[in-house]
Formats: sequence, structure tokens, C-alpha cells
Amino acid sequence: MTERLDQGWFTEVFDSHGSAFSLMIKDKLHEVQSPYQHLEVYATETYGNLMVLDGCVMLSTRDNFLYHEMIAHPALFSHAAPKRVVIIGGGDCGTLCEVLKHPAVEQVVQIDIDEEVTRASQRFFPELTASNDDPRATLKFEDGVKWVENAPAGSVDVMIIDSTDPVGPAEGLFEADFLGHCHRLLADGGVLVQQSESPLYHTGSIIRELRADMQRVGFESVATLPFPQPVYPSGWWSVTLAGKGSDVTRFRERDAAAVEFPLEYYSVETHRGALALPPFMRRALSR
Ligand code: SAM
Repeated sequence: MTERLDQGWFTEVFDSHGSAFSLMIKDKLHEVQSPYQHLEVYATETYGNLMVLDGCVMLSTRDNFLYHEMIAHPALFSHAAPKRVVIIGGGDCGTLCEVLKHPAVEQVVQIDIDEEVTRASQRFFPELTASNDDPRATLKFEDGVKWVENAPAGSVDVMIIDSTDPVGPAEGLFEADFLGHCHRLLADGGVLVQQSESPLYHTGSIIRELRADMQRVGFESVATLPFPQPVYPSGWWSVTLAGKGSDVTRFRERDAAAVEFPLEYYSVETHRGALALPPFMRRALSR
């Protein structure tokens, strides 16, 4: 990925896919080089604020609800009774905010390697960090790969891997060793969910390998759920769920239909629809 700025436009170029995504910008609001990554925040003309890490778009004010709702709610409604949740990555706190909407969740521990991401989110995406003082939430700033190695077995109900792309600090979050630790940390009936890149660009590569690794480390069921995400490569994204002694192709439909908290994209119907894999994905994943 490379980033270009010219004549009032921010452009992320997806070199390996011969495509790009641009937003008209008003201003650069923030720039910092952390020990892990280069972070920028822009004010755009039509998408609100935009966070960029190492030249890759992370989120915009306007459309982050798609990603954050789809990484949180399908996993939580696929678990019978989620109480203990761990988020690896997710420093912008949008996923944390969605998880905390579930009244039955008793504790959420978020482990992001880079405190600068959370500090920037507090300043430029305050709606995502508004629940950070919830007594159920604990924020830690350390490497998720190392954290899972030392966490006790069977201590988590739902693990959410809300990472950057599988390069740089997030590379280890896509490896089988890491997934093996996630499997060990989950109690029986546990659910893991990982952001799994673009259905159009990555079904035959990252998504297929991730699903195979999940099964190899012991997860009995896997499901990849595609959903729209305009600011990411191809405009289409996915999460992949894995169940430890649970079937992630099913979910608590009655509870999902009865939610009283606000939602913009997730519903029983969008969850069901996302479980219906398009034929090209089904074919590529069965090879
Ligand atoms: N929605 C985004 C996407 O799909 O590109 C991801 C958003 S979130 C900002 C990704 C977070 O993962 C970043 O804050 C980054 O610091 C964090 N991260 C990357 N590698 C990590 C690691 N090894 N341990 C913990 N957090 C990590």
C-alpha cells in the first residue's frame, strides 16, 4: 500500500491490485510516528475524520459502523452467553464500544500494541471512545501476540482480533501459533472472530489460509461473513468466525431481534444474509 496526497485528495494505492481509493480532504489534523507505525488523521469533505496507519485507511467517521458492528455482534450472538471478552488490536475503540452495548458482557480486556491509536481516537473520534470509562473495560497497551502466550487457558468466551493488515506489527496475529493460543484461551463454547480482509481480493489467499489454520488448531466450525466497507480495498470486507465446541453458522436470532441498543447495520437479517456465502467464495474455499 502507498499513500499519495495531491490537489486536496488523499489516495491509498493498492499496488498489488492495481486499484486505489481517494477521499477529498480539507486538512491534516494530526501526524505522529509511534514506535510501531506512522499515524495520520485527516478532516475529509464528506466522510468526517479519517485515520490512516502506515498509509492504510483504518476508519472514517462516516462508515466505521459497518466494520465495528460486523466484527462485534455476529461473534457475540454466536456465543450462547458471552461474559468475558478479549479484543486484540482495536485501538480506535470502536469495537469495544459495540461490545459494551451488550448488557450481559461482564468484562472486556482490549490489548493494542500502540497507545497513540487510542489517544488519537479520543481526540478525533470521541464517539468511539465514549464508553472507555465503563467499569467493565480494561485497556492494555502491549503486543497481543505476547499477551496471548501468557493468558490462562479457558478464561475467555469471545476473542475479537481487530488488527491491521497482516504486515508489520500485525503479522503475528495471522499466524497459526497465535490462533492456537486463542483456541487455548477460549472456554468450551468459545467464539473467535478475526478481520479477514477483502472477499474480492483475498478469498483464495488470506481468507482460505486463515480458515485452514483455524481448523488445524482445533476449531470445529468456521464462517466467513462479508459486508460492505467503502473505505477499504475493493470496498468489500469480511470477518471470519471460528467456534470451539460451538457452531458459528448459527446464532441467537431471538436475542439479536430483541436488542434495545442502537444499531446502524447489524440485524438478524444482515447477519443471516452475511452467512450466505456467494458461490465464487464457496467454490474458492472448498478447493
Ligand atoms: N479496522 C481496521 C482494519 O481492518 O484495517 C483495524 C483497526 S485497529 C486501528 C487495528 C489495530 O491493530 C491498530 O490500532 C494497531 O495498533 C493494532 N495492532 C497491530 N498489531 C498488533 C499487535 N501485534 N498487538 C496488538 N495490537 C496490534
